[in-house]
Amino acid sequence: LVIEAAYRERTPGSAKLAAEAVRLLPSGIAHDARWLRPYGIYAARAAGCRKWDVDGNVYVDFFGGHGALLLGHNRPEVLKACQEALLEGTHYGSSHAREVRWAQLVQQIVPSAEQVRFTSSGTEATLLALRLARAFTGRRKVLRFRSQFHGWHDHMTSGYANHFDGTATRGVLPAIAESVILCDPGDGEAVRAALESDKDIAAVFVEPTGGSFGMVPIEPSFLALLRELTAKHGVPLVFDEVITGFRVAPGGAQEAYGITPDITTLAKIVAGGMPGGAVAGRADILESLDFAAMAAKGEEKVQHPGTFNANPVSAAAGIAALKIIASGEPNRRANALARDLRDRLNAILAEQQVPWAVYGTFSGFHIFTNPDGRTIDPERFDPMALSWQEMKKRDGALSHRLRLALLVNGVDISGWPGGMTSAAHDEESLSHTCEAFREALRLLRR
Ligand code: PLP
Repeated sequence: LVIEAAYRERTPGSAKLAAEAVRLLPSGIAHDARWLRPYGIYAARAAGCRKWDVDGNVYVDFFGGHGALLLGHNRPEVLKACQEALLEGTHYGSSHAREVRWAQLVQQIVPSAEQVRFTSSGTEATLLALRLARAFTGRRKVLRFRSQFHGWHDHMTSGYANHFDGTATRGVLPAIAESVILCDPGDGEAVRAALESDKDIAAVFVEPTGGSFGMVPIEPSFLALLRELTAKHGVPLVFDEVITGFRVAPGGAQEAYGITPDITTLAKIVAGGMPGGAVAGRADILESLDFAAMAAKGEEKVQHPGTFNANPVSAAAGIAALKIIASGEPNRRANALARDLRDRLNAILAEQQVPWAVYGTFSGFHIFTNPDGRTIDPERFDPMALSWQEMKKRDGALSHRLRLALLVNGVDISGWPGGMTSAAHDEESLSHTCEAFREALRLLRR
């Protein structure tokens, strides 16, 4: 109550907008992950690693445009490229030079990208990747892992937040849910058994650092096993690199781990903070999108329209961002900052004797609030020692209070709870975050 009162006191402008929003938008929002009680902040502007709300409060931002902003907000080169593109038109309804340059960069940077097809979002990318895999194999089912997120289309909803038994989530046809095989992350034997017994599996999808950017981590050796098993059974392996792509390394997790999938789904960073996504992968798999090749083979082409595919402003932002990211410097910086932040937050937990832990890999951090009350040494916590169910379990009320307490102290994290660093974070923002974390822990004890 103390925390919520402090939050309400600081955010009257957001409260007013939220009151109007709930009459117009279900829950007052546009993305499920933006739902926050009593209401979320309404942003007015953003720059670098910070954003400001309509009440003039400033926040160190670890939500980072849902992960799209490895370079931070409004990186000058990206902004300039968007401005130039805007003046030349926002939509041509025809092909343009920028999409060719954009595809070249994706191809140069992402190891698996022999060819590229742009989409407007990550959800569209995973939808298209699945369709392409089905067309390629002539099979119907998809194998996925519990706790992993691949967007919100009908084949991707079970087994992420709920419906771990694979039943259809509300509004999804049971027949679609039945075509999804869910395995536990890390359970190679289950994957082996499924691929051996079921010859109707068209694709294996995996978030290569584990569900929700490593909130439920997996070992790289598991990816190697998936590569081996899918190759053996002729099933396309799809790395969903919507979050990890261009973030963990320029070429994504496939570069960081040296394991090349057949298909890669991309979004977020690929479009430099603008809407956009892509499917990249083996030319013989993307070939089924090709009019001439399919006509020559006498086969039906896979359909893929999309009004905003390869939008020129998104292409401009993507090109500018990828050119900067290609050097590897932004990744190294964001990764080092996150490591430093995780260590410092764990030191605070140890010093205050709070039995939580902050963990993560690359530029991510996750706050494990220890709902089962384990004995934990924050500085030696090993998330791989726990099951995916234990890692996914959250004390919702506590996570919520923590998030509000951090907002009150000028830090915006995601609801995991956790977040991502960008190359625009710096020592000042990290030390502010550590102070805010200390203060939030104090507020939570009251
Ligand atoms: N796949 C992963 C791994 C994601 O993290 C997300 C979004 O967070 C998606 C797919 C869906 O992308 P979008 O929100 O652009 O539809």
